[in-house]
Amino acid sequence: MARKTHVAVVGAGAFGGWAALSLLRRGARVTLVDAWGPGHSRSSSGGETRIIRGTYGPNQPYTKMTARAMQLWKEHERQWGCQFLHRTGVLWMATAGDDQFERASLPLLREAGIRYEELSAGEMARRWPQINFEGVRWGIYEPDGGFLKARVACQAVAEGFVREGGEYRQAGVVPQEPQASYRDGLTFSDGSGLVADQYVFACGPWLGKLFPDTLASLIRVTKQDVFFFGTPTGDDRFSEAKLPVWADRRDRFLYGMPANDGRGVKIADDSRGPEFDPTSGQRTVSAESLKLVREYLGFRFPGMKDAPLVETRVCQYENTPDNHFLIDRHPEAENVWIVGGGSGHGFKHGPVVGEMVARWVMEEKDADSLFRLSRFEKK
Ligand SMILES: Cc1cc2nc3c(=O)[nH]c(=O)nc-3n(C[C@H](O)[C@H](O)[C@H](O)COP(=O)(O)OP(=O)(O)OC[C@H]3O[C@@H](n4cnc5c(N)ncnc54)[C@H](O)[C@@H]3O)c2cc1C
Repeated sequence: MARKTHVAVVGAGAFGGWAALSLLRRGARVTLVDAWGPGHSRSSSGGETRIIRGTYGPNQPYTKMTARAMQLWKEHERQWGCQFLHRTGVLWMATAGDDQFERASLPLLREAGIRYEELSAGEMARRWPQINFEGVRWGIYEPDGGFLKARVACQAVAEGFVREGGEYRQAGVVPQEPQASYRDGLTFSDGSGLVADQYVFACGPWLGKLFPDTLASLIRVTKQDVFFFGTPTGDDRFSEAKLPVWADRRDRFLYGMPANDGRGVKIADDSRGPEFDPTSGQRTVSAESLKLVREYLGFRFPGMKDAPLVETRVCQYENTPDNHFLIDRHPEAENVWIVGGGSGHGFKHGPVVGEMVARWVMEEKDADSLFRLSRFEKK
């Protein structure tokens, strides 16, 4: 019997977990390694929920990828008997004056076969009287979008991977110099090691620490504050039964999710925060961002004015300069792959990134040029 290709995947977040599962299904022997576990609190894939939507503006592959991701999330829900996707719908508010992004999204949604409705401000106010639509001219409503359970999904993927024959190992990979020497094997913090044929580093905000020369200047890690506000007593107007996920691109881009799973309404500002260390950073939200989201909450959701803050979270984005993902071979090591640069929108695409990475690694193909490192080379 031919020996299977052995692939070591470092990182069990949204990208690494799905990549490991897809590689296994393509016939590889796969070892998935993570320092703290799938969807842990420091990872970019941790916490409760992530939005899944196809509205993405012009000239990008992500609307189509969302359509495929929706299929894959649903298939795995059926296969594993659990729910990841909560179809609350996603409402994208187009501000008077600047709706280029939303306009340009429509043909791509159509092409990808993602259902949507174009709604006037009047129609939106009729459907969701708990939202104040001041300053909003029209909106895109995607009835099949919503939110995904984040940590729960990462854990389910890792469990599914092990059930199908993958090996999971909790261990920290020690950064190596020169970086190309990863091609010969990994060393773990307990002194042990692992030799494989191919290595996939899906280390999210840690990629710059593992590949300082190649990636430190290309992946900027920023602190992102997330807030949960308690809904009024006995009032379900802000729960997932009555309120969609929303995105509100005004002077800033604020987004949020309805109350679910006993938690409050989640709100966050997508503007990039200060630089952040994912290992040692203190996860305390700032007073300024609290002030900003509180003002926004009272304005857009008058029934939530003065709602108590019930939980906070600090997560981090790992941003590339153009906010596109980074998927490529290491420039000095053919069998070392870098997979990351989620840039604040990667979670929903985990299953599709997994499929792509598995195809490129197992068929010895190059990654799509949009995702490759060469796009940053000075012309
Ligand atoms: C506040 C916030 C909101 C977001 N909202 C959305 C959204 O609504 N929709 C959406 O689609 N996306 C969203 N995103 C983005 C999305 O969550 C990320 O793009 C995605 O989760 C990144 O996954 P990852 O696997 O690349 O990284 P991670 O989840 O960080 O996984 C990397 C893993 O690598 C491991 N690792 C690192 N170094 C080592 C080492 N040396 N040895 C062993 N293991 C190591 C870590 O422990 C970690 O588990 C959001 C992100 C944040 C922070």
